[in-house]
Amino acid sequence: MAARQNCWESLRCGKEKECPAYPNFGKTCFSVKGTLCNGKKQGGYLEKANECRDRCSFYKEMFANK
Ligand code: SF4
Repeated sequence: MAARQNCWESLRCGKEKECPAYPNFGKTCFSVKGTLCNGKKQGGYLEKANECRDRCSFYKEMFANK
């Protein structure tokens, strides 16, 4: 089975070097406070959970069929 991609590889955000999800939390970025998705600093898990769940293709792909 192919290794799961990191968020920055899947979304090609180009922000990974500035983002707290990089390099260790590319598969759990939804739980990392202050990520830079959509070009703005995100809050903690509770603040961004809806945004991740409703808008993030990486999140949807990760939790598809779960
Ligand atoms: S959390 Fe978002 S901004 Fe940060 S590296 Fe992943 S896709 Fe890029």
